[in-house]
Amino acid sequence: MFVDETAISPSELVELEERYGAHNYHPLDVVIERAAGAWVYDVEGRRYLDFLAAYSAVNQGHCHPAILKAMTEQAKRVTLTSRAFRNDQLPLLYRDLHEMTGFEMALPMNSGVEAVETALKAARKWGETVKGVPVGQGEILVAANNFHGRTISVVGFSSETQYRAGFGPFPAGFRQVAFGDAEALREAITPNTVAFLVEPIQGEAGIIVPPAGYLRQTAQLCREHNVLLMCDEIQSGLGRTGKLFAFEHDGIRPDVCIVGKALSGGFYPVSAVLASREVLRVFAPGDHGSTFGGNPLACAVARAALRVVVEEQLSERSAELGVYALERLRAMQHKVIAEVRGKGLWIGIELTVKARPICEALERRGLLCKETHDTVIRLAPPLVISREDLAWGIDQIDAVLGQSSAGL
Ligand SMILES: *Cc1c(COP(=O)(O)O)cnc(C)c1O
Repeated sequence: MFVDETAISPSELVELEERYGAHNYHPLDVVIERAAGAWVYDVEGRRYLDFLAAYSAVNQGHCHPAILKAMTEQAKRVTLTSRAFRNDQLPLLYRDLHEMTGFEMALPMNSGVEAVETALKAARKWGETVKGVPVGQGEILVAANNFHGRTISVVGFSSETQYRAGFGPFPAGFRQVAFGDAEALREAITPNTVAFLVEPIQGEAGIIVPPAGYLRQTAQLCREHNVLLMCDEIQSGLGRTGKLFAFEHDGIRPDVCIVGKALSGGFYPVSAVLASREVLRVFAPGDHGSTFGGNPLACAVARAALRVVVEEQLSERSAELGVYALERLRAMQHKVIAEVRGKGLWIGIELTVKARPICEALERRGLLCKETHDTVIRLAPPLVISREDLAWGIDQIDAVLGQSSAGL
């Protein structure tokens, strides 16, 4: 056991994974051993351009040297104190998050879904203690076709049958409303509604961009009815859509903003709930916590990752490169393309055929993409990608979709 395997083949690695690991994913069979910037390399040295960026967790590019430096330096000093004691990194992350985003307070967690759960708990307690909703009656509205993670409560309000099947019973107190339809939200709000949780642009659903003004109307409705607007920016945030946060496209500021993924540039799971003092002060000592949440290693990594977003102007890059990519994709005449949509460098190509074989054909050409919902290819390259690399990636898509259309 624990021998150093130097001569193990890619197919043996795949077989080990299939034999001993749970099959809760269906990955492409590319076995990656290293990466830098927008490129990843498999165990046989072939290189691939990454058009997924770990679902936008590596907006800063793989193994960004500045984040790596912050991580290794902090790892030599202290990695985990638990929140039983203070550490010298957490206050600095709080200050950076406040100065960068304008939110008054933050609560750090690890995975994205933990931050979502934290926001749900905050909303419920705010409902009872601030809004005055009767105990145990608080209701949270969510959007149809949402994706907020995989815990029992979060899949409990998913519209995806597979995400729920076999995992009930689910907690009560959640109700779905149509996404992109402010009227539907207005009709769903009751005196017991404490929050509306929404992705400004739905990622897993296939990069669904709501009508312009949707979030503005939503924010207005929430204000009128004293309901918290909670934006899940875990995938859409930190530059992905051409703004720091996707809600900025509608000129609004939600009461609660949930961040994760690129908050660490892919080095380490770091997430956070950003909100007003009024919301986050509902948590008193002992109400909520996490052993690793806010640990000094995570904070040092997150601070460096945020700094890269600002210093390398990743939002601006995303906006600019996104216009270019959308233009090129929309100009393609291939029969298999049903629709191209997106914002910034976050694009969904809706196909008339299954997306998986297309992704496999792209892999053979050295481009890594992943399908979502059977017929959509999601493009989300690292935001540090060069225009030349981006153009090359789009060329491969053009070629594969052309071949696929010719076969119809
Ligand atoms: C990825 C994602 C999550 C869940 O994040 P995990 O780190 O996988 O728990 C939640 N919401 C959105 C919008 C996401 O894209």
